[in-house]
Amino acid sequence: MTKLNIRNCARCKKIFVPVGKEKICADCRAADLELEERVKSYVRDNPGITVNQLIEGSGAPAKLVWRMIQQGQFENSGLKNASYPCANCGKLITRDTYCSECLDKLKMNAQKFAQALNSKKRAADKKAQESAGKTFSESMYNALDNSRS
Ligand SMILES: [Zn+2]
Ligand SMILES: [Zn+2]
Repeated sequence: MTKLNIRNCARCKKIFVPVGKEKICADCRAADLELEERVKSYVRDNPGITVNQLIEGSGAPAKLVWRMIQQGQFENSGLKNASYPCANCGKLITRDTYCSECLDKLKMNAQKFAQALNSKKRAADKKAQESAGKTFSESMYNALDNSRS
């Protein structure tokens, strides 16, 4: 099953060949990098500013600034309280995409989803395990039986 590895850029809709899991094309990525540089130099020029001041002042999309914080691009920079909202509940966090509570919830949901997806396979696996277990306990029983006699 080979899939042609092309994709529409999530931003400009242009068709491109992604490297790995890239969602945007090289042009958009270059534009992003340029913007990131602008954001970083804005922090350098305005040490001690907050995230909101940075977003307003630099004119960069909040999402880009948040992603940069998440990537640790402002470590040891002048940005104060570098945090961004949890993608689910909006609580301010400093790492990952979600806060720890949402992460727990999502993990549980993902598990349920995976369970539902694999229920057939799991049922088959369980059956195999059960019969393997039975064989094992039977042989154990026989061994015990032998040692008693
Ligand atoms: Zn693009
Ligand atoms: Zn959350």
